[in-house]
This record gives sequence, structure tokens and C-alpha cells, in this order.
Amino acid sequence: MQSTHIAIIGAGVVGLSTALCLQKAGYRVTIIDKEAPGMGASFGNAGLFADYARLPFAKFAMMRKMPGMLLDKTSPLSMQGSYLPALMPYGWEFVKACFPAKYARGKAAMKSLQEHARLADQALLDLTNARDLIKSEGCLGLFATEQGFATAQAGDLQERRDQGVNLEFLTAAQVSELEPDLAGFHAGGVFYPDTRFTVSPLELSRRYARHFTDNGGRILQDRVKALSPDEAGVNVSLSDSSVRFDRVVVCTGVASREILAPLGVRMPLVSERGYHLTLDIGTKALSRPVGWLDKAVFLTPMEDGVRLAGMAEFAFADAPINPQRADGMLQHAKVMLGCNPSIKSTWVGSRPTTPDSLPVIGALDKHPRVTVAFGHGHLGLTFGAVTGQLITETILGQTPTVDLSPFSAARFS
Ligand SMILES: Cc1cc2nc3c(=O)[nH]c(=O)nc-3n(C[C@H](O)[C@H](O)[C@H](O)COP(=O)(O)OP(=O)(O)OC[C@H]3O[C@@H](n4cnc5c(N)ncnc54)[C@H](O)[C@@H]3O)c2cc1C
Repeated sequence: MQSTHIAIIGAGVVGLSTALCLQKAGYRVTIIDKEAPGMGASFGNAGLFADYARLPFAKFAMMRKMPGMLLDKTSPLSMQGSYLPALMPYGWEFVKACFPAKYARGKAAMKSLQEHARLADQALLDLTNARDLIKSEGCLGLFATEQGFATAQAGDLQERRDQGVNLEFLTAAQVSELEPDLAGFHAGGVFYPDTRFTVSPLELSRRYARHFTDNGGRILQDRVKALSPDEAGVNVSLSDSSVRFDRVVVCTGVASREILAPLGVRMPLVSERGYHLTLDIGTKALSRPVGWLDKAVFLTPMEDGVRLAGMAEFAFADAPINPQRADGMLQHAKVMLGCNPSIKSTWVGSRPTTPDSLPVIGALDKHPRVTVAFGHGHLGLTFGAVTGQLITETILGQTPTVDLSPFSAARFS
């Protein structure tokens, strides 16, 4: 075992994956989280290992649509008024990321992560005996109108294909063959045959945590108040004590901005909240995740019911649930399923979102003993394992499998 003792702050899917990779490389690792493992954003996602997600959100066409979407109460995009000042630095960087050269660099960076994500996931799923939590049934993305579908085929979907995504266009009848219990609300859509999903994001985090502790890892449940790095190590201030480590990896999701600010890191990271409703759909059943792309909602069949996930609500992480958003999503689910499902639970959580859709991965220039892994936005489950692999390669002093320069924390300074 390496004598270096590393603290991972944050036991979401990114922190847990990173802890497992570092432990496997022989490091002594302690995870610190104020909650039990997997209870942050990683609890509530739609469960997709979204191999098809290879295009950044920031582009001028999207920016032009945003004011209308923000004014439309039924659109998936919304903003809490009091959150506007926190959004300003993000907004400015978002505009910069829309320029074609930056967008092209962002696309290349996303593709580079995707090319290694599946193998990295497989390694962790095998290591932790978690394969039973994963299904390989592909995923559907549907459109309400022929015209919307045709526009997407010539635009985004073609762009995805050019990015190496395996996809097929399906007629409405072909969709019905795959998912007979869906209502006929759509004009067909796209099928991603290689996409996998988990039937329980929480159980996946728990399996990762259990393997970690079974193999000598320690999990401390405490709040990190401050990090004080020096040349030889990092002091971590907890609620009532302080612990010293040789290195620290910050994987605190949306809270990373406030934890890193005292270290002089300027990070336009925002809280992009998403909702999920766990539905009982009675005698109906789905075999795979189904998205209604016009409404940006997904239905994923999970262990405890069908998870209806979606929404992009820019709001403080601790703001209460907005019942209007949850109700809007439920209306979409009723149309998709042609029935009146009952709600078993409602959840809201914050995606840690960067303006250019790229996560932040790597050591801090000014504090080389502090490495960061956060900002995975819509793709933390998809990129968790590959992030852990890249962080481990960096700490081992190896050349990372993926060029990390597009993911540097310094790109916003
Ligand atoms: C509705 C919804 C649907 C989604 N669907 C998908 C999907 O299908 N596929 C996909 O890939 N991604 C999806 N995502 C995104 C994904 O869930 C996130 O990107 C991912 O969970 C982020 O993981 P994380 O480990 O960075 O953060 P988190 O899971 O939020 O973990 C951060 C941890 O840090 C801890 N922490 C914070 N501050 C402190 C502190 N001061 N001291 C100690 N601990 C601290 C928190 O308690 C938390 O446990 C979705 C997100 C949402 C909201």
C-alpha cells in the first residue's frame, strides 16, 4: 500500500468512483461527507449512462430560445428570481462558450471522455459486484410531431452521429413494438441501442461505498468547513476537529464553489435543479428509459417504480420544492403513458453545472495537493467512473488517458 493518505470530500457518485480507483491503485483513502453516501444529486438522477450525450448545451441557437423558455411557465427551463445575481458569472461564461470555436472544443472534449467512460464503468461495476443493477436495453427519445423529429434528424441527431453515437431512427409503429404500453403521443423518435441504465442510483452508490469500506477504506460523516493546503499536505477543518491529509480531492458537487472560493478559485458553477417523481403506473410497464424530448422529461423503470425525471430550474440548492414544476412533469407523464399514475414520492436536487457543460477535473495550479472533480451537470453518473480513473492517473503522476486541459479549473480565471 502507498503511504500517501488521501481524503475525498463528497460521497456522491463522483467521489465514490474516485475513492474506489485510488484505493485500487494502493492509496490509503478516507471519504468525508456530511450525509450518508449517495444522498446528494447522485440519489435522484434518471439513471442513464448517457453515452449519446456528446454536445455541450451552450450554443447560440439554444441561447436564442432561452428568454422565451424562461417566460413560458410550462417549459422545462426556469429560474428563481433571487438566484439571478449568482447566475451572472455563469451567464457571461455561457455566452463565451457559445462561440463556434469554443463549442467545437467542448464537443471534442465530451467525446474524449465518452470514449473511455464505458470501460471505466465496467471496471467499477465488476470490482463492486454491481452488474445486477445495470440494464442494457437501450434508450428512446421521442418527438411529438413529425416536424420536430425531422428538424432533430437534420440537426442535433446528425451532429451526435458525427460524434460517434450509435443511433437509429424509429417510426411511431416501431416505437410501439419496443414499448407497447406507451400512448400514441409521439411521431417516432431516436433509439440509442448502446445506452445502459441503473435500476437504483442509490443502491449503486451503496455498493460502491460497501466495497470501499470492506477493503479498508474509511468513511467519516462530518461537514468540511475549510481546506488549508500547504507544501506538504492539507488540513481539513471539520465541525469540531481538524484532520491532516497528504492530499485532498474535492468532489462536493454543487457545494464545490463555496468550498474552493477561499483558495482563490473562481468558479461559475451553478445549481441547476432537477426533479423526480416516483410513479406507480399500475399494470403498465416500460423496459427502458423513454424521453419525451420536446418536454425534456424521462421515464426510467427502476426498482421502486417508474422514475419521472427532468426540469432545469436555476435556484438555490436549499430552496423548497416548487409543486408547479412537479405537477407540470406529472401532466407530461400522463400524456406519455395514457393513464393516471399515482405519485409515491417527489424529490428535488441540484446538478452541479458549468457554463460549458464540461466537468472540472485535475489538480489546482496554485495548490497542487488539492485535486478537484466536480461540475458534471447532467452527466455525473455517466462520467463518474472515468473521472475517478483520470484523477487517479494524475495523482500517480501518469499521463492521463484523456487530455485534461479542457477540464482545468483555470479555464474560467
Ligand atoms: C433530475 C436529475 C436527473 C439526472 N439524470 C442523470 C442521468 O440520467 N445520467 C447522468 O449521468 N447524470 C444525471 N444527472 C446528474 C447527476 O446526478 C449528477 O451530475 C451527479 O450526481 C453529481 O455527482 P457528484 O458526486 O458530483 O455530486 P453529489 O451526488 O451531489 O455529491 C456531492 C456530495 O458532497 C457532499 N458535500 C457537499 N458539501 C460538503 C461539505 N461541506 N462537507 C462534506 N460533504 C459535503 C454532499 O453531501 C454530497 O453527498 C441527473 C441529475 C438530476 C438532478
